[in-house]
Amino acid sequence: MTEKWDVIVVGAGNAGFSAAQSARQGGARVLLLEKAPRAWAGGNSYFTAGAMRTGHGGLDDLLTLVEPLPADRAGRVDLGPYPAQDFLDDLVRVTRGRTDRELAELLTEESRETMTWLRELGLRFELMFHRQAYEVDGRYRFWGGLAVGVVGGGKGMIEQHLAAAERAGIEVRFDSPVTDLIVDGGAVGGVVLADGSRIEAGGTVLTSGGFEANAQMRAAYLGPGWDLALVRGTPHNTGDGLRMALAAGARPYGHWSGCHSVAWDSGARPTGDRELTNQLTRGGYPFGIVVNSEGRRFVDEGADYRNYTYAKYGAEILRQPGGIAYQIFDARSAPLLRPEEYASEGVTKVESDTLEGLAKQLGLDEGRLVETVGRFNAAIAPGGDFDPTVKDGCRTEGLTPPKSNWARALDTPPYAAFPVTCGVTFTFGGLHIDREARVLDTGGSPLPGLYAAGELVGGLFWFNYPGGSGLTAGSVFGRRAGRSAAGGSR
Ligand SMILES: Cc1cc2nc3c(=O)[nH]c(=O)nc-3n(C[C@H](O)[C@H](O)[C@H](O)COP(=O)(O)OP(=O)(O)OC[C@H]3O[C@@H](n4cnc5c(N)ncnc54)[C@H](O)[C@@H]3O)c2cc1C
Repeated sequence: MTEKWDVIVVGAGNAGFSAAQSARQGGARVLLLEKAPRAWAGGNSYFTAGAMRTGHGGLDDLLTLVEPLPADRAGRVDLGPYPAQDFLDDLVRVTRGRTDRELAELLTEESRETMTWLRELGLRFELMFHRQAYEVDGRYRFWGGLAVGVVGGGKGMIEQHLAAAERAGIEVRFDSPVTDLIVDGGAVGGVVLADGSRIEAGGTVLTSGGFEANAQMRAAYLGPGWDLALVRGTPHNTGDGLRMALAAGARPYGHWSGCHSVAWDSGARPTGDRELTNQLTRGGYPFGIVVNSEGRRFVDEGADYRNYTYAKYGAEILRQPGGIAYQIFDARSAPLLRPEEYASEGVTKVESDTLEGLAKQLGLDEGRLVETVGRFNAAIAPGGDFDPTVKDGCRTEGLTPPKSNWARALDTPPYAAFPVTCGVTFTFGGLHIDREARVLDTGGSPLPGLYAAGELVGGLFWFNYPGGSGLTAGSVFGRRAGRSAAGGSR
């Protein structure tokens, strides 16, 4: 006999759990199907830092959301308001005005209330002192529009989601790859699993991620060379949901040749490491310089706060000869590097008291590296007050590419270099959804019975991405998708 549920959710990451919870709150019996085994629970969401961007009214507002502050820090926090409008402005700016306005407004305006909703479900939040603040003059100054994270990062998030799903009576079934949608008379009525079994439902929500772990699709859509990038997260996001939905008549939408990709330890394995997860990211480059294998700089390391550049600089590294680059710091900049990323197990690192020694170990032309650093040091504009918590204007003059903030001479040994390559995070192209997270067909009408949220939704992110937006988008639209699917299923 064919199994029947009110709502099926395909893919148990943050978007999937959010959709399942909201469908359950809408009174539906919910089945959450996950391709991976239990040991790989959580998709890309597991690999995250758990950082969630939200509009907010400043410290007092966030204190109602997060766990109590550590006693030694309370009263020493500088954290101004980040209105939903600022979140929207940042999204519009980094996507060069291409973000889907309607979806972007929903994301930013509903971000704060969605965080409260998640908290009520059982997720725990904290202020991210370790990632998004620096101690200056005895105060913890937050920067870059991102302040809140899940306690325990991505690992904590999935543990908390699984526990909340169990409390809510949501069945989560692992080792259950969905291979097809049941389409009858133009409406989606459930799914087909890899073993050929069929499960019917009034509403089907796709939350099965992008195609970042599919080398062939990366080469086909992102372009030549992208098959060589390392994958930061789960090996299971191979574009299955996209393929099924497009075959059922869904409309492709958004930046199909674009993705989120970062500077990633060049010694990392081809797909994510469940132990090290996000620690393989190398996000400290605003405080040093980055050179390619010819010893030349190729990006403005200080163009903006890391949160607004890191997601597009992976692609710049991939474009360099051999797809490799080297982040270089000296003894003055090193203390600003996060120990989890730069001083923990598995970090590929080279150190020397001289730049020549550094170049030799890296296999770079010694003279060229010395010349690049010398020209950089000589180009730093006089004056300036170095401050990692603001765009401090400490910059180079007459140098190409420039360094627009946090430019300080690299002249204090020992020097350290970190070889990095391109780590792909998730893909930007996806399905087109409306306000209610209904999947639209090629004619622009809702495909009956089909909803979507998370990474496989297109249109929000183009070229670049404001750090911490992916998880929030998954929850905002997951919540909407679950509500719609529950409503449509009865
Ligand atoms: C290292 C790293 C760090 C990151 N840090 C952050 C951060 O701090 N903040 C932030 O906002 N974003 C971060 N991101 C991005 C973030 O991971 C994504 O935006 C978010 O997790 C997407 O959630 P999702 O639920 O759409 O996808 P996922 O969490 O990837 O879930 C998709 C699920 O679908 C399953 N699936 C795939 N195909 C099928 C199928 N055929 N049948 C059934 N199930 C299927 C997968 O196995 C997976 O479990 C990070 C990503 C990585 C890789």
